Amino acid sequence: MENQKKIILTGDRPTGKLHLGHYVGSLKRRVELQNSGEYDKIFIMIADAQALTDNADNPEKVRQNILEVALDYLSVGLDPAKSTLFIQSQVPQLCELTTYYMNLVTVSRLQRNPTVKAEIQMRNFEASIPVGFFNYPISQAADITAFLATTVPVGEDQLPMLEQTKEIVRKFNQTYGDVLVEPDILLPDNKACLRLPGTDGKAKMSKSLGNCIYLSDSAKDVRTKVMSMYTDPDHIRVSDPGKVEGNTVFTYLDAFSRPEHFAKYLPDYENLDALKEHYRRGGLGDVKVKKFLVAVLEEELAPIRARRQELEKDIPAVYRILKEGSEAAYRTAAETLRLVKNAMKINYFEDEELIRAQSEKYGK
Ligand code: ATP
Ligand code: MG
Repeated sequence: MENQKKIILTGDRPTGKLHLGHYVGSLKRRVELQNSGEYDKIFIMIADAQALTDNADNPEKVRQNILEVALDYLSVGLDPAKSTLFIQSQVPQLCELTTYYMNLVTVSRLQRNPTVKAEIQMRNFEASIPVGFFNYPISQAADITAFLATTVPVGEDQLPMLEQTKEIVRKFNQTYGDVLVEPDILLPDNKACLRLPGTDGKAKMSKSLGNCIYLSDSAKDVRTKVMSMYTDPDHIRVSDPGKVEGNTVFTYLDAFSRPEHFAKYLPDYENLDALKEHYRRGGLGDVKVKKFLVAVLEEELAPIRARRQELEKDIPAVYRILKEGSEAAYRTAAETLRLVKNAMKINYFEDEELIRAQSEKYGK
């Protein structure tokens, strides 16, 4: 294989606006990687085809949310001059690749995928799993490999997808020759960001669970959501000792607070450890901690919100960015598909040797 380039592929389903889980799990990292200049190519995909696998009856939801996700992307600092922002369904080569990869994976292997298992349960799909949904880890392998991605920055729930992708790459290369690239997952360094819980304390903030703080929420909504957040149910009076583990407010502080926030908003405490220590000991009320969290979140969200308001003034420009990005993604995926089809020997009309040898066989 020619000297390997560093290529990123990642994305989100347009099933709602993006939330803090996306931000700490993947978005923030993407922007850092984009601005590091260390990557040759960065592809950011709005996964509408994947969103339809469990929203087939609601295409309007998917359609409306493409713009929302795009606005969120641009407002956190993804820059179309540096990253290719595109829409999955506009790159049909991804479907073709999926079809060929389906032959390399068994049904029982798909059934073992723990993330898909959990999602099937969450959606009450047990008795009626759409084939497309069941198959989405394979389609995700197509998305990643179509761009010969080396790096996939995502949250922890994507680990099984990356494992599946690597297996497909190995199987493909072993069967047809070295064409595809094995990608590496890039997880957040901060443990609290691997899988940010919802405001209700549930294991994952997720659009489908309605327990999100959205990047585009107003300052007032953020405050309301934080003030009603799940904490320690046994911490009733201020004087009671409190638990920090499994306490969502502290998990969010783990994810978002920095030492300078304390000097600025809560100078009685040197850092998060000191705050946690007081909470454990008793004498520190939830309201005080929550107010601090609101201030910390506002510092991060205010500039994102302001940029979004600017971008909202020119929606056609956002669509132009997506169109150009989709065209560029199409060209890259078409080139990979050509290599794949050559390796699989489904390139009949380009293979003069095939036609010559068969002519000979028939005596001509
Ligand atoms: P849906 O409920 O429709 O599946 P979602 O909220 O799970 O939506 P996705 O679009 O499936 O969001 O995920 C996009 C990216 O964001 C993935 O990389 C995923 O790992 C990451 N992500 C989503 N939720 C979280 C979370 N709570 N913590 C960390 N990362 C997350
Ligand atoms: Mg998801």
